[in-house]
Amino acid sequence: MAAPRDWLGTVEAEGSAGRQASSGVEVVFPSDPATPAPLCPHGPTLLFVKVNQGKEETRRFYACSACRDRKDCNFFQWEDEKLSGARLAAREAHNRKCQPPLSRTQCVERYLKFIELSLSQRKFCQRCQQLLLPDDWEKHQEHRVVGDISITQLKRPSQLLYPLENKKTNAQYLFADRSCQFLVDLLSTLGFTRVLCVGTPRLHELIRLKASGEKKSNIKSLLLDIDFRYSQFYMEDSFCHYNMFNHHFFDGKAALEVCRTFLKEDKGEGVIMVTDPPFGGLVEPLAVTFKKLIAMWKEGQSQDSSHKELPIFWIFPYFFESRIHQFFPSFCMLDYQRFHRTFICVDEAMKYGCMLEVDYDNHALYKHGKTGRKQSPVRIFTNIPPNKIILPSEEGYRFCPLCQRYVSLENQHCEHCNSCTSKDGRKWNHCFLCKKCVKPSWIHCSICSHCALPNHSCGGPKDGCFICGELDHKRSTCPKIATSKKANKAVRKQKQRKSNKMKMGTTKGQSMNHTSVTRKKNKRERAHQYLCS
Ligand code: SAH
Ligand code: ZN
Ligand code: ZN
Ligand code: ZN
Ligand code: ZN
Repeated sequence: MAAPRDWLGTVEAEGSAGRQASSGVEVVFPSDPATPAPLCPHGPTLLFVKVNQGKEETRRFYACSACRDRKDCNFFQWEDEKLSGARLAAREAHNRKCQPPLSRTQCVERYLKFIELSLSQRKFCQRCQQLLLPDDWEKHQEHRVVGDISITQLKRPSQLLYPLENKKTNAQYLFADRSCQFLVDLLSTLGFTRVLCVGTPRLHELIRLKASGEKKSNIKSLLLDIDFRYSQFYMEDSFCHYNMFNHHFFDGKAALEVCRTFLKEDKGEGVIMVTDPPFGGLVEPLAVTFKKLIAMWKEGQSQDSSHKELPIFWIFPYFFESRIHQFFPSFCMLDYQRFHRTFICVDEAMKYGCMLEVDYDNHALYKHGKTGRKQSPVRIFTNIPPNKIILPSEEGYRFCPLCQRYVSLENQHCEHCNSCTSKDGRKWNHCFLCKKCVKPSWIHCSICSHCALPNHSCGGPKDGCFICGELDHKRSTCPKIATSKKANKAVRKQKQRKSNKMKMGTTKGQSMNHTSVTRKKNKRERAHQYLCS
């Protein structure tokens, strides 16, 4: 079967039936770019190409690296498009206007003032998601403001801030306390002393809480995240406003140096990078970024330790395994499946003025999911030897001496594959025709000549995901949908603009008015889909 050429470039999932969309958009990294990529408010843009199966590559274009929704960033430029001086100036002005209202230094100054205030003076505006100083009170009079912000609350900003969950671009899936605790314990057992948290604000928070707690741990943490709201709570040396899809530090060289110093400290000893990127993102730009962070860490290494690798935990769904292997062949997927994320009831939070967090484990939706299975698709990918990572037996893990790793009890060693093959916590069955283990719900189909769900339609793209063909999620939750939709829309829009231009015979600038109807999926449904996938 021909390699699918869609947004993510290749078959994502092991055991995928191989049905793929016939067209999509890929990101390209020219080895010798003639010109640097133009800038959007989120830093350098990425170069994309729309591809159709069996057809030649079409014209390439630049679009935002971070935003998977045109509403969040509508940057679009053909690779060979020449912009007038006026348009370049307007773009620059727009990019500046989109930057956060306060500089990083101003945020730190405000924070220092804030902690000097008495408890009753410490207020937080929920509408503006901002800590208020007495001078600001009047402006926020009409807003919902919570008072008496304690130092404990200040140390847990992820509970004070609303998770950005309504935006495709930046859906924040926060770890449930238990999962976060597991990670912190693991990091400390493995002896790490510094953690570079890339898109893991809650992990960062918990590490710092432990470092200042009674049973002091000595782990330091630096958070890199695109969510600027965090800069209100951390000093320059513990938070950098950062875009992980293009390795862009919004606060320039000073912030880059903070990161570099952190990685290179102690000759790079004792540091690990932990990342939990948004699923909708592209694997390749992430891999390129992580390689840049690895290179920064390497600078601190002495000659004789040049063979060493920067330890990494990359938290991502299991169906991206083959994609991750493409860029990091040494990475192993751990079988730890109890990665629960909190489900935050924003509506209720608005009503009661506080966050109501529900562990997926205790959540009604979770318990009554369609399949009744109790796991999330999220796994840890790592270059740390898996035999060093002890998974708790009380949570149902055992050590497989043949695989030299901890696996869930249901994950049985297949003597034909010579490996514990289950990816999803159920016992998989070996198919001698496919020569591999497959999900228990699959049977071998002689028409398709591979295993599939019993009620699949032969040769048809009907069951499983319509976009990527993978069987464990539907089109609406496909990790590629947002990106490919956006890019297709961008191309369509560009075409439309062209034809409008021709019709009107003018050279009117780009319209900012989006008439596209976005389907609003209700939160419940989305959570349900996530849990049942
Ligand atoms: N489970 C993690 C949160 C993961 S949600 C925890 O509990 O700590 C994904 C995180 O990545 C969010 O914090 C989000 O703000 C961040 N993020 C999303 N897009 C990003 C980008 N382009 N660059 C950097 N961080 C990003
Ligand atoms: Zn952008
Ligand atoms: Zn306000
Ligand atoms: Zn097998
Ligand atoms: Zn089969």
